[in-house]
Amino acid sequence: MNYNSLYKKNFKRKFGQVFLKDVNVIKSIINLICPKINQIIVEIGPGTGAVTKRLVNLVKYLFLIEIDIDLATKLTNKLSNNNINIMCQNVINTNFFILSRQMNQKLRLFGNLPYNNCINIIFHVLKYVNVIHDIHFMLQRELANRIIAKPNSKEYGKLSIIMQYYYNIVPLITISPTSFYPTPKVYSTVIRFLPRNYKISINLDKLILILNLAFNQRRKKIKNSLKKLFSIKDLIKYNINPSLRADEITIDQYYYLTNKINI
Ligand code: SAM
Repeated sequence: MNYNSLYKKNFKRKFGQVFLKDVNVIKSIINLICPKINQIIVEIGPGTGAVTKRLVNLVKYLFLIEIDIDLATKLTNKLSNNNINIMCQNVINTNFFILSRQMNQKLRLFGNLPYNNCINIIFHVLKYVNVIHDIHFMLQRELANRIIAKPNSKEYGKLSIIMQYYYNIVPLITISPTSFYPTPKVYSTVIRFLPRNYKISINLDKLILILNLAFNQRRKKIKNSLKKLFSIKDLIKYNINPSLRADEITIDQYYYLTNKINI
């Protein structure tokens, strides 16, 4: 059976199913993850197991979280092996603190994420930073560019600032649409997230509040967009030029402001 007929039977658009078919790409991804035998690898959305089946013999503990019961059942039949734990559930309902505690180890997360639900999954995973060793996610290239963006670029925004607070993020490889079935319209990028040793802790709700005000009208000067929270005098006191616009404020300056909010 060729790839097309195999995947046509399985493919469900509502779960953002786009399956990797290029063996060289799959091998590169495994090399990038570089699993070690005693590590806990958690794959989000294993699908038909294109990457999973090459991971099975490389680690002692492999957890697979797959929302689609049909694919989860097929994987259970295909990969019956003591070291595999298949969880048929929405990753958004997965508590990684519990899993890490049970295994007494930090987790290595990996996944070719469904395009239609990427941001929710990333935000869910974000809060488990303390029990994460590292993460490798394959994402739509445009989304990856927004996550790694720096100030003064059009991609720089809420997502870049929030993600880069928690993680050092490294783009690794770009993958062509022809490596998947069905063929998506966009390129993908694999990025690595390494938990940061951040010195100051911030309140995420407060950071989101500032970012919403600043970026909802990103061309406004911050003395106007943030005036509900900071006076011009405050901004000057914090060494931040009130005439700058949202995308000209550095990530550290946003973190600093977050800790100055008095609410
Ligand atoms: N890893 C496979 C591959 O690379 O060929 C499939 C990747 S496909 C882009 C995304 C996978 O995530 C699908 O298998 C889909 O069913 C699964 N998925 C989608 N939403 C999910 C969720 N909320 N929780 C767990 N799995 C999910």
